[in-house]
Amino acid sequence: MSAATPTNVFQVDRQTLGIDWADGAKSQYNVRELRLCCSCASCVHEWTGEKLLDDGSIPEDVAPVSIENVGLYGLRIQWSDGHNTGIYTYERLRALDRTPEDS
Ligand SMILES: [Zn+2]
Repeated sequence: MSAATPTNVFQVDRQTLGIDWADGAKSQYNVRELRLCCSCASCVHEWTGEKLLDDGSIPEDVAPVSIENVGLYGLRIQWSDGHNTGIYTYERLRALDRTPEDS
């Protein structure tokens, strides 16, 4: 079906989230960047796609407090700034990964 199926989701360190994928790829994300690209209705306008979130309002040291699976398709992250309405689908996470391929 899709390569966007994680086999492991883990915190590499406080600022870094790691995901291992079913096809063997490994991704790492800066957690603040993930927070800034939240696509929930309070961060991005539902109809216009305009970003409503003010990056400057997000603490430099924002970090996930908890990460839970949402069905089989994504993650819901509870953030240290209190935000928890964003769902990060695995497909989106996969697309966000800009880590160059090793091979
Ligand atoms: Zn949001």
